[in-house]
Amino acid sequence: MDAAAQLQANLDAIRTRIDAACHAAGRHPGGVRLLAVTKTVDAGRLRLAHALGLRQFGENKVQEALAKSESLADLPDLRWVLIGHLQTNKAKYAARFAGEFQALDSLRVAQALDAQLQKQGRALDVLVQVNTSGEASKFGLAPGEVPAFVRELPAFSSLRVRGLMTLALFSDDTARVRPCFVRLRELRERLRQDAPQGIAMDELSMGMSGDFELAIAEGATTVRVGTGIFGSRPTPDSAYWPDSANAGGVTPA
Ligand SMILES: *Cc1c(COP(=O)(O)O)cnc(C)c1O
Repeated sequence: MDAAAQLQANLDAIRTRIDAACHAAGRHPGGVRLLAVTKTVDAGRLRLAHALGLRQFGENKVQEALAKSESLADLPDLRWVLIGHLQTNKAKYAARFAGEFQALDSLRVAQALDAQLQKQGRALDVLVQVNTSGEASKFGLAPGEVPAFVRELPAFSSLRVRGLMTLALFSDDTARVRPCFVRLRELRERLRQDAPQGIAMDELSMGMSGDFELAIAEGATTVRVGTGIFGSRPTPDSAYWPDSANAGGVTPA
């Protein structure tokens, strides 16, 4: 199979699994957004992905994403979604091209992004990243910190808050993974009851190649799928995550 046919086959398989998971959960597949995670995937393969209809690319690192966005600047309808931890000194790059940022977990970053967005006359959809697994190595706010954090966000008028994002525990044991997704959903329900004016709490970005069916069962509105679409990555995930236990570039199935 050539590269385009392989990509098409992978994508078809993922969409079939998403549809099946939605069906099993009594949900409409239109309620689940597929975010293609494109870290380590080069611009040439992203062109193929675009030709197959993918329009939203999730990237962990700002520089990597910015370089690809420049290579693909001739494709007008792409949305770049940043899903990795952002350092405040990179906010100005993110503000230039990103349409969405899913890893907001500090007021310093909110402040830096908002200031840069104001300068550029842009706005950004944001999700608050929550550490639902309790692992010290993961970024994100503890669930208990989120309500107070969210109450501060209306101060940053260029940030359009849409909901929550999490990375579940990496495990084959669904009995340990599922509670992470349940925690995120329950937190959203609580936040919806007293969300400040202008703060939306609709999005739940949760589930990756190895666990998205479970996430859909628990209410995911966005699933972030990398290896399931593009195959295994050449670079170990420790280059992208602060979690060296997951090094090796292989995503647990
Ligand atoms: C890499 C990554 C994914 C996708 O992981 P796969 O296992 O390749 O599907 C999803 N979310 C985040 C935050 C990531 O860094």
